[in-house]
Amino acid sequence: MNHWVLGNWKSHGTRAEVDEFYRQLELGDSSSESQWGIAFPYGYTERARDFGLGHVGSQNVSEYGPGAYTGEVHAAMLKDCGCDFALVGHSERRQYFAESNETLKEKLRLITEQGMWAVYCIGETLQQREAGQLESTLDQQISLLDQCQTPSLVLVAYEPVWAIGTGRAATTDDVTNAHGWIKQRLKETPCADAAILYGGSVKPGNAGSLAKLEDVDGFLIGGASLNAESFSAIYRSFNQAKNA
Ligand code: PEP
Repeated sequence: MNHWVLGNWKSHGTRAEVDEFYRQLELGDSSSESQWGIAFPYGYTERARDFGLGHVGSQNVSEYGPGAYTGEVHAAMLKDCGCDFALVGHSERRQYFAESNETLKEKLRLITEQGMWAVYCIGETLQQREAGQLESTLDQQISLLDQCQTPSLVLVAYEPVWAIGTGRAATTDDVTNAHGWIKQRLKETPCADAAILYGGSVKPGNAGSLAKLEDVDGFLIGGASLNAESFSAIYRSFNQAKNA
């Protein structure tokens, strides 16, 4: 089963909050359920790994290997600090840090070269959607996977930018259409079997209806992953919907 419920803490949290999160998780019997994990700020990944629960991820990685790159953290360091996945191409990285497809392609290569999963984030802005550019935007973003050498380590997260952190999740119709299109497009790449996660204002209240959609293989959760209670509730709803 290729199902995933992942969180992204962004630039939030403290060591104490990491501890509290793991202690308060109530995921139910997760032995045969979806995989889950949290992408933490760099400084907290080792702390999180010590709990030995779920997957631990990073939100970014250097586009370089070891060397004189002040401030950078390279992929082997992430692995050394307990990460087994990393996000690539989150819209906040694309927008605020001007990460190009070429940069992201290299990051994805470096992450998977270390045997970590790369969660490749794609999605359109409201402006692109309203201009009828949904498919061309996704196409351009997915083209980065056209020659992917490590398809078994790639997950795709569809995150419409207008739904991130806005409280306005995409409708089930929006998600059905976008995931269906992405699935077809992925068939033209080596990543045809990649899980497709939805991200954008997923909360305990909408997780069940989104999880019921056939082409939704998981969630990438921002704000609601900061709280163990809401993350746990989303995880349980997801599994309940998939096992129904
Ligand atoms: C995200 O940042 O990846 C995200 C989906 O955020 P939120 O759930 O807060 O919309």
